[in-house]
Amino acid sequence: ITKAIIVASIHFNTLIFCLIVLLMSLYSPATFAAFPTQIIENEDVQLEQFEMGYFIDKSQTMSFESIKQQEFKLTPNALSLGTEAKTTWSKIALHNTTKSALKIYLHHPYAYHNRAVELYEVVDEQLVNHRVLNMDDRDTQQWMYRGSAVFEITLFPDKQTTLFVKGVAFSHQWFALNLYSEENSKRALLGQYTNIALAVGMILALIIYNFLLFFSSRLREHFYYACYLVAGGFWIALSYGLLADLFNVYGSITLKWHLSLVAMPIFLLLFMINIFETQKKYPIEHWALLSILTLLIVDFIYGLFDIVTALQYSSTLAAIMMAVSLCVTFSMLIRKQPIAPFFLLGHGLFVFFSALAVFFYKGKAEFSYINSHGVGIGILLEALVLSLIVAYRIRILENLKATQADLQVLASTDPLTQLFNRRHFSHAANQLLKQAKLAQQPSSVAIIDIDHFKNINDTYGHASGDESIKHAANMIKGLSRHQDLVARYGGEEFIILMPNTVANDAYKLTERIRIALESATLASNENHLNFTISAGVAEIDSQTFNLKEAINNADKALYKAKDNGRNQSQLASD
Ligand code: GH3
Ligand code: MG
Ligand code: MG
Repeated sequence: ITKAIIVASIHFNTLIFCLIVLLMSLYSPATFAAFPTQIIENEDVQLEQFEMGYFIDKSQTMSFESIKQQEFKLTPNALSLGTEAKTTWSKIALHNTTKSALKIYLHHPYAYHNRAVELYEVVDEQLVNHRVLNMDDRDTQQWMYRGSAVFEITLFPDKQTTLFVKGVAFSHQWFALNLYSEENSKRALLGQYTNIALAVGMILALIIYNFLLFFSSRLREHFYYACYLVAGGFWIALSYGLLADLFNVYGSITLKWHLSLVAMPIFLLLFMINIFETQKKYPIEHWALLSILTLLIVDFIYGLFDIVTALQYSSTLAAIMMAVSLCVTFSMLIRKQPIAPFFLLGHGLFVFFSALAVFFYKGKAEFSYINSHGVGIGILLEALVLSLIVAYRIRILENLKATQADLQVLASTDPLTQLFNRRHFSHAANQLLKQAKLAQQPSSVAIIDIDHFKNINDTYGHASGDESIKHAANMIKGLSRHQDLVARYGGEEFIILMPNTVANDAYKLTERIRIALESATLASNENHLNFTISAGVAEIDSQTFNLKEAINNADKALYKAKDNGRNQSQLASD
């Protein structure tokens, strides 16, 4: 019986042992694993990737004494927990195995987004130091370097130090903790801000360039694009603590400045409306853009009074805005709007990287450089691609201007003779007379008509007639002065307006032309053609500067020349 009891008890013990082993293996190993300790073996400290613990205080009121008793979950030294973890504790165990005390620096690179950061140092179970960095308290801002909090810590030789970091977030809880020696600390802080300074510098250059473009071209899209860049650049400088550092303001006051994030889509929509010319060309899209624009403006104004509520709505509005703007862009794409593919690329990049950031902030995406800087990267890429659109638009407008100039020349020129036509003559002559009136200078007008032109047509054909008109036009143009306005006035009639010329000098000019044409021979279709012209000359009244009246007078003088036997010039009689 005794033997049986012993055997049974051995079996029972084995059973219990097996159960314990089974239960242990079912449990998460983290629970039983010893808390990881970072061993510091030399002075060159640079801990950027290590394991630490975190604990979320849902009540937000727990004392340090009770926090110390809590189980901390293991995590990498950077994490994002969303809005449900407003008060979160981190725990880092360090062991200085050297023979001397070491000064190291704890970096909290995103401290700026927190309401407060607290640091507790525990050595041998004793609290040796407690610091509170309250962003709203000017005295504690000494630990802020731009957006980062930096705490100096002394590690005693061959001692274990445990750091407890309490972070109280404004809304979203995301942070990273790094440890450095003095040298490495300085290097990390500098390196971190060269990136941001570069980005802000680039945006600043684009802002100045676009304001200059606006002032020279007066095209509103440059203005809206520049404003969009101001809002985006402002937000980047704000969210990385550059502005806070510059103006030495931290904490809840700067929360209001996040309205720049609402201003950005407002200017982007205005830019879209202008660049796509939706008002003129796409009424339905225009209506859609205007509606979301109105909502954003209302939210912006609301934010001036209640920023927290406004920002809450702004994320929903931003999502609607992105959906609407993407739909409009797709609709443009279908209608083969030439700028649409660029816009889709730029805006698509922004939406993609911002979406990564939103998932990250909400604690649904891992902590990575790209995820945590998503909005900044998105703004930069979009700004770059949109600047291509601005350049493309400038080219299109330049081409349009050139085409319009070509059309204007075409509309004002007579195709046969390449002289100005009658319509352009009236317009240009009135401009010249305005100047003559201001300068109180005399001007004259002459009408020239080919003699017996019907005979040329009848004898040599219409083509030779055309060539004669061309020949006469070239002679008249060649012999008149550069300031004279020469035009084809009708079939085989020409008109010359001579600024700063009295009637006698005008008469001399028409005589020169007449004599030259009389002695010239035109070879056309194996024929040799000779023809003459008659001219009527009139001075423009120096009181009224009435062009019509002067032309009438010149016409009458021309009749006189014809009546007198042609091949002559006649001055209008007063
Ligand atoms: P006059 O000496 O009195 O001016 O006699 P004319 O024959 O020149 O008379 P008129 O000015 O009335 O005749 C103009 C003719 O010019 C009539 C028309 O058939 C011809 N004509 C008008 N335009 C053109 C053109 O572009 N090409 C050619 N070949 N002939 C034209
Ligand atoms: Mg005629
Ligand atoms: Mg004629």
